[in-house]
Amino acid sequence: MNKIGILTSGGDAPGMNAGIRAITRTAINNGLEVYGIKRGYQGLIAGDISPLKTTDVSNIIQRGGTILKTARSEAFRTTAGRATAFEQVKKHGIEGLVLIGGDGTFRGATLFSEEHNIPVLGIPGTIDNDINGTDFTIGFDTALKTAVDAIDKVRDTAEAHDRIFLIEVMGRDAGHLALFSGISCGAEHIFIPELKEDMDQIIQDISNNRARKKMTNIIIVAEGDEFGGANKLDEYLNEKIPELDTRVTILGHIQRGGTPTPNDRILASRLGYHAVIELLAGRSQEMLGIKNNQVHYTPFAQCNRHDDDIAKDWREMAVVLSK
Ligand code: ATP
Repeated sequence: MNKIGILTSGGDAPGMNAGIRAITRTAINNGLEVYGIKRGYQGLIAGDISPLKTTDVSNIIQRGGTILKTARSEAFRTTAGRATAFEQVKKHGIEGLVLIGGDGTFRGATLFSEEHNIPVLGIPGTIDNDINGTDFTIGFDTALKTAVDAIDKVRDTAEAHDRIFLIEVMGRDAGHLALFSGISCGAEHIFIPELKEDMDQIIQDISNNRARKKMTNIIIVAEGDEFGGANKLDEYLNEKIPELDTRVTILGHIQRGGTPTPNDRILASRLGYHAVIELLAGRSQEMLGIKNNQVHYTPFAQCNRHDDDIAKDWREMAVVLSK
């Protein structure tokens, strides 16, 4: 193998640049030429491909987003779209790919690799931490830190005004960001899609807190919770306890950007480095992750998140600590 390509795909996540840097430099160190593919599969189909040198990835390890940009591509979902993408791969002499993205990216990569017999490895980049085969995804730690910083600030106001704040965090249909930020901030209640809440108990808890003059409550709501987010939950609570003084804060896209934490930089560097070594060793159609501090390989087909992957003991701990 002489030439490899790198792309970032799906939602951006802080730490993707550290991954691009690690892949590029490891490949060059192993005598390979490296091509950066812009805007994920969209750029692959369009041939938006150019060489990456060591200096092109200087001074990016601390930057959020992705210098290669990212996109979603409907065309890549079709056999014809993937065939066009392969024409571009052949044209540039690319013999292997390393992708940074989520499970959708890996589903597309499996088809591409099978149809065109090209080796492909992936590393997990998403703030949602919703990929099977790794303890943490690249970007999760940074998003968590951003959410925690914001929630701490909101708590100051909640305390000052004796108010209940419902704070919605990202994570799509996964509750990791909500659960971890809720535990980190000492939230009184945490709503995640993976678990059904006992609403009677929660109404009782809020009423009890009011009776003992504990007026401040921080309630963290995952955007994908069954209530449909913090606004819907707010309506429900106000219907049940009309005298409640509540406010809703939706953290939104601030959770996606920003300087990656050291943990995300290290995770991306480590996975990017090993991805190139393993691609050269002949591995394909697998995602690299870290489990128990060891590099772990998961076939793309098994990277889909399992709905019940937030262990019950985490939830139970969060409940005990919030009392
Ligand atoms: P994130 O978790 O941040 O959303 P993702 O990789 O899961 O990242 P998706 O939008 O699901 O994001 O997938 C990225 C791209 O991968 C899609 O735009 C599409 O081009 C390709 N892709 C996803 N699923 C498939 C599929 N089943 N077949 C072919 N290509 C796919």
